[in-house]
This record gives sequence, structure tokens and C-alpha cells, in this order.
Amino acid sequence: MSDQSYSDTCVFCKVGKGLVRADIVLQGDDIVVFKDIHPQAPVHVLVIPRQHVTALWEADQAHMPLLGRMLLACNEVAQALGVEESGYRVVVNSGADAGQSVDHLHFHVLGGRKLQWPPG
Ligand code: 5GP
Ligand code: ZN
Repeated sequence: MSDQSYSDTCVFCKVGKGLVRADIVLQGDDIVVFKDIHPQAPVHVLVIPRQHVTALWEADQAHMPLLGRMLLACNEVAQALGVEESGYRVVVNSGADAGQSVDHLHFHVLGGRKLQWPPG
């Protein structure tokens, strides 16, 4: 289990510690929500834990409270950015085939336009 861990090679750990600049929308004791640097929709933010968790595949029962708070933060930020009623999508890429490019757990929240389904 990697609770409370920090990786000094991980850019999102650095965002969580305020060592790398990010356009932060919401934050709490254990979660930071910030705008994606390459937005794929008018609303595109990332919900991350401050602690290093590599991906969803690494999460276990000990992470259940954190995962619940991350999911509720998705709705909180959707409400704050005005897409709660119009609709939004939460995406979690876990591992190579899903296209995960940053190895620190993150939930994408996308909205503000009609999104296609199925994803590519
Ligand atoms: P993944 O492909 O791993 O699911 O998503 C990683 C996301 O992080 C991408 O959408 C990418 O644009 C975003 N990203 C990567 N590096 C940074 C960064 O330094 N700052 C911000 N704000 N977003 C980043
Ligand atoms: Zn990290």
C-alpha cells in the first residue's frame, strides 16, 4: 500500500505539494482538482489525491474512503464549473492500453460539450 507516499519524479505529486504550478479549482486535505494542461472539452479538470497512488490498478480496500471522496469531488467541481445539470463524464485511464500517460491516479472530469460514445 502506498498511502502517504510521495514520488519526487512524479509531476502530480509535485502539484499536490505546490511544487509545480497548476490552475487549481478546488482542494482539500487529501485531494487537489486542477485544470488539464491540454483540455479536451470546455471543462476538463483532473481530480488527484495528494498522496502517490500509481493508478486505479494499485488501489485497494485501504483507498476506499479516498476514492469515494475523489468521486464526490468530481460532482463538486462539476457543480462549481456549471456542468452538473448539463452533464459531464468521469474518465479514469488505468494502465497502458487505456492510454494512461501520468502514473499518478487521476480522475478526468469532462463537460461543456456533447461527448461522443463509445470512446476511441
Ligand atoms: P492520462 O492520459 O494519464 O489519463 O491523463 C493525463 C492528463 O494529464 C492529460 O490529459 C494531460 O494533458 C494532463 N497533464 C500532464 N501533465 C500535466 C501538467 O503538468 N499539468 C496539468 N495541468 N496537466 C497535465
Ligand atoms: Zn505521484
